[in-house]
Amino acid sequence: NLSIPQPGPAATKFLEKGIYSNLVNGEWLSCQSGETFDTLDPATGEVIGKLQRSGAEDVDKAVHAARNAFADGRWSKITPMERSQMLWKIAGLLEANIDELAELETLDQGKALYVGRWAEIPGAVNQFRYFAGLATKIEGATIPTSINYQPEGKEVFAYTQKEPVGVVGAIVPWNSPLVLTAMKLAPALAAGCTIVLKPAENTSLTAVRLVELMQEAGLPDGVINLVTGFGHEAGAALAEHKHVDKIAFTGSTQTGRAIMNAAQGNLKRITLELGGKSPVIIMPDADIDAAIQGAANAIFFNGGQVCIAGSRLYCHGSIMDKVAEGIAAIGGQIKLGHGLDPETQMGPLVSKEHSAKVAAYIADGKSAGASILSGGETGGPNQSFVEPTVITDVTPDMSIVREEIFGPVVVVTPFDDTDEIIAAANDSDYALAAGVWTEGLSNGMRMAGRLKAGTVWVNGHAMYDASLPIGGMKQSGWGRDSGQAALENYLELKTVCAII
Ligand code: NAD
Repeated sequence: NLSIPQPGPAATKFLEKGIYSNLVNGEWLSCQSGETFDTLDPATGEVIGKLQRSGAEDVDKAVHAARNAFADGRWSKITPMERSQMLWKIAGLLEANIDELAELETLDQGKALYVGRWAEIPGAVNQFRYFAGLATKIEGATIPTSINYQPEGKEVFAYTQKEPVGVVGAIVPWNSPLVLTAMKLAPALAAGCTIVLKPAENTSLTAVRLVELMQEAGLPDGVINLVTGFGHEAGAALAEHKHVDKIAFTGSTQTGRAIMNAAQGNLKRITLELGGKSPVIIMPDADIDAAIQGAANAIFFNGGQVCIAGSRLYCHGSIMDKVAEGIAAIGGQIKLGHGLDPETQMGPLVSKEHSAKVAAYIADGKSAGASILSGGETGGPNQSFVEPTVITDVTPDMSIVREEIFGPVVVVTPFDDTDEIIAAANDSDYALAAGVWTEGLSNGMRMAGRLKAGTVWVNGHAMYDASLPIGGMKQSGWGRDSGQAALENYLELKTVCAII
């Protein structure tokens, strides 16, 4: 019995449109085939909108629009200050429409409203503000050389300059749609690139609203283009298009491999933000209450559909039972419901298909001999809710320990000493993030150095900021989003060396 409050007037007005178009060179277009597909409220399974099922021809049009917009310099050749001002304006418009965007995200993705309203949409605003600041700070260097064969009376003068990479294809997933989109678009725009955005098929609504707001801000036509559709159709066409210079991708490791293959034709640049199976380590000297709450948040936030979710929990043997039971108790008290219900702490997962996948992992763990300490059930009108689940008695070879489940499921393992726990934590194909809880900060920092992960948190989890690079080692990806490192993804470095 879900209580489903109505969204506010702005989101209602947006939803009344019912059918959403692609944006190509400033024009809202239907796809060439005329086919649409449904986007659903995952809590109920009800259709909330129809999107263009774009194919290769639609992608081609959008890429050409982006190419022309790049070539004539309407964005790349304006002053950095003008680009910065535009990014500030986009940030302001996002912020002014924050309630609407959070409601749309909840309806489309399922997440509890507070996740979008207080974390993700403000996070998207911050991305645009942070990169607005960097747009005016793209600098090269003058470089002294030892070249000594210039003619008498002449000198060698060498410097580097940075140039936008060109046309960027941005392909994003469904778990945190708007903020992950902002992580690509803001640095790409700051660098002077033009973009074709392909949002995830089941969560495209906030991407449509975002590009509307970018138009309202006055971003020149063709600088941002939107094509909706499926990964194997629109996504694949974008990844292999010969006039796309770079793909900025966030999604699964499996799709990351497909993107790599598709990108080889024109050797386009790629950055890949992929999956994770992040360890959270609780040392015996940790502030146990803080660690229990932190480890629970690390896995239950957004229903565990977070690339950096703390899905492998390792506790020192002396505190294992207390921690596991503490997290199980927190999980048991989490209020599941429709994301728009203000009482809701955890919404459904993104789809009934995804919930079934998570349920299959739990079943697989059980049949391999693991114990379900709490949760484990799936339900709701659309079979899309999964209870916060804590699993013990696991072994390192189990699929629930090795594979990314992408749901509110944590596996808990005891350990004895630091060397053992570092080895266990690093025993993964993934290396996106890790967390250590300890009051011995020196030891915590030394452990951070030994953990194979793109980000390590000490006494916290999922602390992210537009200024902090985030991304993976090993099969969690290539390159970084956020921070100054992200801007470099959208720039080419040119060396100029002259005899003067
Ligand atoms: P996914 O790989 O299935 O899809 C991601 C995007 O790729 C979607 O837009 C999809 O349409 C598109 N796509 C699918 N097949 C494609 C193809 N052959 N060619 C081009 N595009 C294609 O991922 P998902 O299930 O939507 O998202 C969940 C995954 O994203 C998880 O693995 C999660 O860890 C990862 N993720 C990583 C980060 C990070 O920063 N590292 C952040 C969030 C999510």
